[in-house]
Amino acid sequence: MVYHGRCQCGAVRAEIRGEPAAVRECWCRQCQQLAAGGPTRNAMFRTEDVELSGELSTFAYVAASGNTLLQSYCGVCGTPVMAQSSARPQFRTIRLGFLDVLGSVRPTMAIWTEEAPYWALIDPDLEQHTRQPPPPPATS
Ligand SMILES: [Zn+2]
Ligand SMILES: [Zn+2]
Repeated sequence: MVYHGRCQCGAVRAEIRGEPAAVRECWCRQCQQLAAGGPTRNAMFRTEDVELSGELSTFAYVAASGNTLLQSYCGVCGTPVMAQSSARPQFRTIRLGFLDVLGSVRPTMAIWTEEAPYWALIDPDLEQHTRQPPPPPATS
């Protein structure tokens, strides 16, 4: 499968060859800041499968997990593009909103649920983790 990504303004694009190792929603505080109070929803693709074009703006911080997270956005329109964790250089965590084909990938897991607001609606069918779960295997 080939997935394509595009930010709102089109300055950043991606072509991804391969299937995601995991698709998750994250309720950590930083993701809520990024996603206007909701979770971020993300597909973890293998780093070598992701080809990006265009200029990214980045911001790095130490997450609650203790890992350094590098967040990437389109510097023009602000669309969140991806995150990279210092603990998992083998993956690029691509924001679902950046992908063109939302219908074909869906979250199967919710993480950092202990930081979700009390009014959050978390699909009971999702595998749930109160904090950071172990990473998926790098090969499928
Ligand atoms: Zn843009
Ligand atoms: Zn998060």
